[in-house]
Amino acid sequence: MSHAIAAVSTGMSVSAIGIIRLSGEGCIEIAGKVFTLYNNIPLSQAPDRKLMLGTLQDKQGRTIDQCMAVCSRAPHSYTGEDTVEFHCHGSPAVLAAGLEALYAAGAQPAKRGEFTKRAFLNGKLGLTQAEAVIDLIEAETADAAANAAGQVGGMLQKKLMPVYNDLVDLCSHFHAVLDYPDEDIEDFGLASYESALKQDAKALYALLSTYGQGRILRSGVAAAIVGKPNVGKSSLLNALAGYERVIVTEVAGTTRDTVEETVMVGTTKLRLIDTAGIRETEDRIEAMGVVRSKQAVENADLVIFVCDGSQPLTAEDQAIIELCADHENAVALINKTDLGQVVLPSDLPFMNIIEICTATGEGLDMLAGVVDNLFAGEMPCDGSILTNARQFDAVRRAYEAMLSALQGLKLGLTPDAVLTDVEAAMSAMGEVTGATVREDITARIFERFCVGK
Ligand code: GDP
Repeated sequence: MSHAIAAVSTGMSVSAIGIIRLSGEGCIEIAGKVFTLYNNIPLSQAPDRKLMLGTLQDKQGRTIDQCMAVCSRAPHSYTGEDTVEFHCHGSPAVLAAGLEALYAAGAQPAKRGEFTKRAFLNGKLGLTQAEAVIDLIEAETADAAANAAGQVGGMLQKKLMPVYNDLVDLCSHFHAVLDYPDEDIEDFGLASYESALKQDAKALYALLSTYGQGRILRSGVAAAIVGKPNVGKSSLLNALAGYERVIVTEVAGTTRDTVEETVMVGTTKLRLIDTAGIRETEDRIEAMGVVRSKQAVENADLVIFVCDGSQPLTAEDQAIIELCADHENAVALINKTDLGQVVLPSDLPFMNIIEICTATGEGLDMLAGVVDNLFAGEMPCDGSILTNARQFDAVRRAYEAMLSALQGLKLGLTPDAVLTDVEAAMSAMGEVTGATVREDITARIFERFCVGK
């Protein structure tokens, strides 16, 4: 068990209940120094995993709070260590004083994500499960929360482990045969390895193909708002975001850089990217914006083209239409319908065309309907899909190494040549399951957490 750490696990804002968490070596003894049970039983003799009422005191013995404490002894706790949680009244002053008392009694401040990191290091959670804890805390939609909860429950880990275990078996057998040629070890049985590898590669391919949906579920749809200057792109972003995020002016070309805003449109989470007007320009700063706009269209899951419906379409509009009309998911908005309409839906080569007025909000509900139609679908939200770029990258590397191993087997390469690929696949899979992940990578993963998680 590591040294005892303490932190407030709920937010430091006024609330009905606030929780201080304590975990590690000697933490029940430390807690016993600052907490007296109403029934006068020493905390060290208190039953396991049962909430008990008592008083929390500071160093001078003054009462900080009347609250509940629960002891969870190793290994039956979140971290796998002895743990004590105090359920206090949720005043930031109470929580700060309680934490101070625990530090004075011997606990050290917890680092970001340290409780979950310990849970991972103690084998209570696989790495995908630990990573999903932060997704669950940060989930912004019910579907994202359900998916993260499924991952915390081990749905993804369960899919990855059989592949990882097969690779470990394969490697150990290869090594046994290569390193002990004189021992009577069952020969390779290349055919059976080949079929296991094929099956596992197929499973990884299926998993990799879920990432597009998974990324959207976790991070939202990347939506680029494009159109020439002054057509109402920033006004649209503001209307959807519900407040003045972008300065809207009447001078063409004022939104020079890209601006991002996450909004719910219908039931879909959009990461709106307002781009500088896509147009050929001499201006260097604006030109950089144009480059970004082109990139934004390329990287977008959804392109929202905006034009000023009260003015005839120009060559500039046409150039932008060309840039985005082929996009898989594109919507055209004919804006400023309040000023009289000269641009008609039949003038635009888009599947989805909506007449809107960002000044009054007219037509925005239609946009929500189109977005939901395009993106809210039959996405499994049970935690069995890939949602995270790091995991996707490692699974992709494992998949490619497995294809290379299969190719080697087919070409009749020597076992040690095939082994190199199988080991590469195993190591890449280990980065996802947590079995072979490097310390600096785990450190970076848990740094994303807040203190107390
Ligand atoms: P952007 O350059 O494409 O981002 O365009 P802005 O959002 O900055 O809008 C340019 C000008 O058009 C501003 O003066 C807006 O107030 C105005 N505008 C935007 N949408 C509408 C609309 O629906 N109706 C009217 N009448 N004016 C609008």
